[in-house]
Amino acid sequence: MSGPGHQSQKNAVIGRGAQDEIAPWSPTPGRSRDVDIVVVGAGIAGLAATRSLRQRGRSVRLLEASARIGGRVVTDTETFGLPFDRGAHWLHNRAANPLVAWGREQGFDIYPVEGHEILYVGDRVASSAETNAFERAYRAAIRAIGKAGKRGHDVCPAEVVADAGEWSATVHQAIGPFEMAKDFDRFSCQDWWEQEDGDDAICRQGYGSLVARLAQGVEVELDTPVNRIDWSGDGVRVHSQRGSIRAACCIVTVSTGVLAANGIRFDPALPARQQEAFNRVSMGIYNHLALQFSQNFFGIGADGYLTYQIPNGPAKSPAGMGMLVNQGGSNLSFGDVGGEFARELESEGVDGGIHFALGELRKIFGSDVDRYFIRGDATRWGSDPHYHGAYASAEPGAWHQRRVLRKPVADRIYFAGEACDRYEWSTVHGAYRSGRKTAKRVHKCLTPARD
Ligand SMILES: Cc1cc2nc3c(=O)[nH]c(=O)nc-3n(C[C@H](O)[C@H](O)[C@H](O)COP(=O)(O)OP(=O)(O)OC[C@H]3O[C@@H](n4cnc5c(N)ncnc54)[C@H](O)[C@@H]3O)c2cc1C
Repeated sequence: MSGPGHQSQKNAVIGRGAQDEIAPWSPTPGRSRDVDIVVVGAGIAGLAATRSLRQRGRSVRLLEASARIGGRVVTDTETFGLPFDRGAHWLHNRAANPLVAWGREQGFDIYPVEGHEILYVGDRVASSAETNAFERAYRAAIRAIGKAGKRGHDVCPAEVVADAGEWSATVHQAIGPFEMAKDFDRFSCQDWWEQEDGDDAICRQGYGSLVARLAQGVEVELDTPVNRIDWSGDGVRVHSQRGSIRAACCIVTVSTGVLAANGIRFDPALPARQQEAFNRVSMGIYNHLALQFSQNFFGIGADGYLTYQIPNGPAKSPAGMGMLVNQGGSNLSFGDVGGEFARELESEGVDGGIHFALGELRKIFGSDVDRYFIRGDATRWGSDPHYHGAYASAEPGAWHQRRVLRKPVADRIYFAGEACDRYEWSTVHGAYRSGRKTAKRVHKCLTPARD
């Protein structure tokens, strides 16, 4: 959930305390297999699972399709010369997020989100009456969705949220596209309700930098897309262009988007209910439109959040953004867009995203925007075949499919990652937890060693 949300380093510590010392590599393959476990995908879940299994003395190969680790948590320091989180930025639920304590132990500057929020109507700051009207409408929508979710009504917000008049599109965007990366007709109230939440924190060096630190010492095979997993015999055979690996089992951590698009073929095919779960706990779209300016003309300080009244239009998906301003006190700001509107914007390319963001700011701040603009960039997670979107949520009527995602197939194929966490799906720390939990489960299943 977003919005307001390789080098050797043996003996690093993960988790809340110092209980997770990395054990030396200790392969224990059997006669009929190359390794105990193959982990597919080196995002946070795959990295966490691999670390945990190696700590337990298991032999693991971690295969990653792309040329880098981190998946949807990646800090780009090249485009703007300062940290730009292309994916996850907020350390959600900071009180319960194990990566906060771990990151601090590692020397990262992690601070609570306390930036000022500002609401515009047209080219002026909203009056207190307008701000109150927006907040009332927002709270009413939250109450309606929460009530349905609490009662186990697996319906979409579009069915329960009352019309909020001139604030309808703005409220829709703040809850749908910003939180769930989907519009009001595309996600389940129950899914929204069941997710744990809490105050956020930010890592000044970037969330991706923190995850890169966690990856230190973890051996990863990059540029190795897995295209087939054969589980017809004993154990599994994991195939990529670089050959095949025999293992007792595998942990698949790719997004439900990749699985729904059959990015990996399973032989024999997985049970139909599994495929249905991939299809219906589906990916939403959420992107950052990053802009660098030479001056702070926003009138708010570091990590402020700018929203504006989005005009109600004929389109189902609100065409607007919210913007994190002066990230960490720097001259970088990024707009957030989500839902179907974000998908459409992706089709206009990076320049289309930048153009849109500048145009929206021009309506508020006029020509200062062009005077101070240095450069921009736009992410396009929906178009990336390694993800097919930003993060997953259950479609209306598909809440129960979450459980299916967490079920292993034949005790040989395990799924982990953000969509599989029980309480904090769509987050980095949820994916981290899912990776570690699954590793523990796999280790238990393989104990004692099966050779
Ligand atoms: C724009 C954006 C903003 C977000 N904001 C936040 C935020 O502020 N806070 C937060 O907590 N979360 C946020 N999230 C969500 C968070 O980033 C994800 O929930 C989390 O990173 C998912 O981790 P994962 O390990 O489950 O999956 P991934 O990161 O997707 O890792 C899976 C890996 O598998 C690889 N892969 C894919 N196909 C194959 C294949 N065939 N073979 C081998 N490897 C393959 C991928 O390249 C990837 O590296 C955001 C996401 C996006 C996109």
